[in-house]
Order: sequence, then C-alpha cells, then structure tokens
Amino acid sequence: MEKQSEKYKMQTFIEINLKKDLNKALAELGFIKPTPIQAKTIPILMDSDRDMIGSAQTGTGKTAAFGIPIIESCKPSGKTQALVLCPTRELAVQVAEEIGALQGNKGLKIETVYGGTDIDKHAKLLDKGVDLIVGTPGRVIDMSKRGHIHLSEIGIFCLDEADRMLDMGFFPDVLWVVEKMTNRRQTMLFSATFPQEVLDASIEFTKDPFHVM
Ligand code: AMP
Repeated sequence: MEKQSEKYKMQTFIEINLKKDLNKALAELGFIKPTPIQAKTIPILMDSDRDMIGSAQTGTGKTAAFGIPIIESCKPSGKTQALVLCPTRELAVQVAEEIGALQGNKGLKIETVYGGTDIDKHAKLLDKGVDLIVGTPGRVIDMSKRGHIHLSEIGIFCLDEADRMLDMGFFPDVLWVVEKMTNRRQTMLFSATFPQEVLDASIEFTKDPFHVM
C-alpha cells in the first residue's frame, strides 16, 4: 500500500483539486505544503471512500489529514454525515476548531459532544441539525440513546488516538458506537502506537484499508 501512497504524493495543496472555499482557507491558515502524512493520505481519501489506518502522533498534521477529506465529502445539510471520536474533551475541541478553520466559508455545522457539559443544551443544538460531530465516546453514546444522534445515518467515521482510547478504558464504548454505525462507508483510524487491541480493532473496523506511517 505504501507504493500507492507514494504514487499520489503531492508537494503542494494546489496540486489536488480542492474546492475554492477550502483552498482559500488553507492559504489563510498558511498551509502551503502538506505534511508527510497529509501528502500520503489526502489524495487517496479525496479520490475514494477507502478506509485507512494511520500511524501518527500529535504534531504531524493528522487532524487536517482526515479533516480535509471529511470537509470535502460533507455538505451543509443539517444531516450528520461524519463522526470523529476523540479520547478527551480537549482533543475534541481542538479537532473541531481546526476543522472549523479549515472549512472556510463552506458552512458545515460542526458540533462538539463531550461529558461534563449541559446535556440539554447539547441536545437542542444536535436537534437543530449538524453536519459533523466531534465527540468523546461516553457522551456520544448518551446522546445516541436519547435519540439526538442517529449513528446509523453517519457514513464517515474517524477514530482519533485509538491507543489513548484503549488506555483510558473507552474501547467498549468505541465498539458500541461502531456497531450502531450500520451505514458506515469509510473509516479512518489513527493511533500513535498499535498494541494488540488496537490492531484487532483496526482489522475489525476497516475493510481493505491503506496504511500510512
Ligand atoms: P496536528 O498533528 O493535527 O495536531 O497538527 C499540528 C499543528 O500543525 C496544528 O497547529 C496545525 O494547524 C498545523 N498544521 C497542520 N498541517 C499543516 C500544514 N500543512 N502546514 C502548516 N501547518 C500545519
């Protein structure tokens, strides 16, 4: 798979046909050259619904590596099309902020969903319709059980920092969420390390994934 990633390697963001909004937002953020993981993943993810497994730590630009293809795949419709699961509230906020900045004027509604906050407020926001949810597993499950998140309608799933999810004991929750996403068509899994449980999950959650180190 590495060979295929190499084939698609891009030097600048201009080389891929990103929509105008995104190109402008990237230029405004000062993103000219993709980081290595972005160069290997974005062209493939933009070209197809292929699953991917990324071995990447924070600081590598992994958020934009999955964020840019997600933005390009989603439409502002008020129907949730993508879910990003993060191990902590801080990371969820950071990921949502970065995707929000990257999307420019595209107008996708992005909602963060994490514990320790007013549940009714979150429920009301979700009921108004959101295009993309970034959240932590426990609160996502809670909102799904209360009928404010419809996991079966979501097509794109990204599991960020899978190894930290495991360390924090969130894996049973992650499995619950994945099982309910019956119409999942694309899965991206990122992890800094690959202990056995993460390896097993990556095999179970993905179909014919490409791997990026
Ligand atoms: P991450 O690994 O996703 O947490 O990203 C680390 C930092 O690098 C974040 O502050 C991003 O905004 C920034 N960043 C990501 N991709 C690029 C890029 N292609 N050019 C410049 N900065 C970037």
